[in-house]
Amino acid sequence: MEIVPGLHSVRLLGARAYLVVEDEITLIDAGLQGSGPLLRRHVEGIGRTVGEVTRIVCTHGHPDHIGGVREIAAMTGAQVLMHEADVVRLRIGMREALRELRPSAFVAALTRGPEDAKPLDDGAVLPGLGGLEVVHTPGHTPGSVCLHVPAHRLLIVGDVLQVLRGQVALPSYVFTEDMALARRSIARLAELDIDTICFAHYPTLRHGGREALRALAERARSGSAATSKT
Ligand SMILES: [Zn+2]
Ligand SMILES: [Zn+2]
Repeated sequence: MEIVPGLHSVRLLGARAYLVVEDEITLIDAGLQGSGPLLRRHVEGIGRTVGEVTRIVCTHGHPDHIGGVREIAAMTGAQVLMHEADVVRLRIGMREALRELRPSAFVAALTRGPEDAKPLDDGAVLPGLGGLEVVHTPGHTPGSVCLHVPAHRLLIVGDVLQVLRGQVALPSYVFTEDMALARRSIARLAELDIDTICFAHYPTLRHGGREALRALAERARSGSAATSKT
C-alpha cells in the first residue's frame, strides 16, 4: 500500500515495514527472522529487484524490527543503519540480563543484531522523499529513532508510539526500557509540524498527527496517559 507517492507500507513477519521507492530503495525495519521472502514478493510486485534496496534503516533493536535484517542485508547487499545506543544494548549477555531482571533486558540478550551497522545519528538526513530526518527518541529502547519527512508532514515512529482504544498512546509498558525518557522523547516529537503518523503495529494515522501528539504529550505531563499493561 502506498502511503504517499514513493512510500509503501509492507507487511513483514511481526511488524509493518516501510519502503521508500525512488531510484534507490530504502527499507525501514526488517520484521522477524524469515521476512526476506515477503520483502522480495513486494519489491518484485512493484516491478523492481531486491538488488535495488541499498539501505535498511532500523528504528530500534527489537526482534520484530531487526530479526530479518541479516537475511535481508545478505539478499540485497544493502547497508544497515541503526543508532549506536541499540548496537551497544544488544551486546548485553544473559548473565547481565539476569541481574537486570527486566523483560527488555532478556529481549536484548536474545536478539541477534545486524552483522555490521552504520551509526544513525540524531539530525542526520537520509536520501528519499525530499529528506528523511533522523530524530533520536530514546525510551522504548536507548537507540530508538523516528524518521521525519517534512516534505510530506509525515513521521515514521517504530514502537515509540502505539494506538490504544483509538488514541495515540505511550509505548508498551512491558517492553519499554525507560518510560520517563520515552515521555520526554514524545514531548520533542510534539514540536514537529506533522499530519501523518506511520506506526509499526497499527494502521497509519492519515491526519491530525500533530494534534494527537500534543494531546498525548499533555496527558503524559499530567501523568494520565494510558499505557498498555500487556
Ligand atoms: Zn515492534
Ligand atoms: Zn519495540
